[in-house]
Amino acid sequence: MAMSSKGEFGFIDFIKEHFKAPEGVMGIGDDCAVLPTDWGELLVSTDLLMEGVHFLREESSPEDIGWKAAAVNLSDIAAMGGSPVATFLSIALPKDAQGEWAERFIKGYAEISDLFDVPLLGGDTTSSLRDIAINVCVLGRCPSGKALTRSGARPGDVIYVTGPLGDSAAGLQAILQNLERTEDVATLIHRHKRPVPRLRAGTDLIDTGVVGAMMDISDGIASDLRHILKASGVGAVVELDRLPLSEELQMVCQEQNWDAYELATGGGEDFELLFTAPAGLEKRTDIIIVYPIGKIVEGSEIQWYHDGVRTDFDTTGYKHF
Ligand code: ADP
Ligand code: MG
Repeated sequence: MAMSSKGEFGFIDFIKEHFKAPEGVMGIGDDCAVLPTDWGELLVSTDLLMEGVHFLREESSPEDIGWKAAAVNLSDIAAMGGSPVATFLSIALPKDAQGEWAERFIKGYAEISDLFDVPLLGGDTTSSLRDIAINVCVLGRCPSGKALTRSGARPGDVIYVTGPLGDSAAGLQAILQNLERTEDVATLIHRHKRPVPRLRAGTDLIDTGVVGAMMDISDGIASDLRHILKASGVGAVVELDRLPLSEELQMVCQEQNWDAYELATGGGEDFELLFTAPAGLEKRTDIIIVYPIGKIVEGSEIQWYHDGVRTDFDTTGYKHF
């Protein structure tokens, strides 16, 4: 089909052309849809996890998958600066996952739901011929007119992230290459399996009132930052040597001869927040720690720098097709 040549994002654009959001409503294109209400803005997002694509049953415990299914959805609420209100869970289970697997999945889902005090209020359950499919829909809220979208970046803004990048991608690589589980490797794998949505960071950042654009990092900054650039009509300079890298990532990259920058920019699922704001936010002590990694400039592309020198480094992040 012609559609597949346009890839995942081309398909989403195709859908967008066929459905116009009602006046005042923000629909397709951001981490959440934003619907105005009497009490503020309602945030809605949904994410699908497929066995064999997003997880392998033999590599992750059911509890880990339950945790992650909720976590990736809560992350989209964090990405808007919102607070979660509730989740809904739809799940298709093949015969061999209908008993113990399903109950253990729910335990992991409940664990993170309790941590962030988010109730599960409904869903749907069905059988599946072979693979497990999990869809979560999350509702959140934020004050009227305050949701942090991808379109608010302006030349001169600094680009920030809320924490280390590349750990999850390295954890996945460690699983796939069956690395020996040293303490560092185990930490990276844990980051991959149990991501923590940056909800506190999101509300801290919305409260500052100075954030331009924001999103969560699900596909790696090389891909995700481009969404902000496209939505805002701007370009970016990113300084590779300023990317926050965990000690564990640096150690394992050294041992395995992996490229930490490649993992930090092209690997997804860190679920840190990526945002723009005026310079100086990193000096504030009343909010979560943030790391400046570059700046917004005129243009439409990402220019990568290392130690002040432009490099032709390029990577495009994870795309589904
Ligand atoms: P995220 O990684 O933040 O979940 P995605 O890259 O999956 O975002 O999706 C980008 C945007 O496209 C979102 O606004 C999402 O709601 C929308 N979208 C993705 N797939 C579909 C679809 N099948 N129908 C309608 N909207 C979609
Ligand atoms: Mg997102």
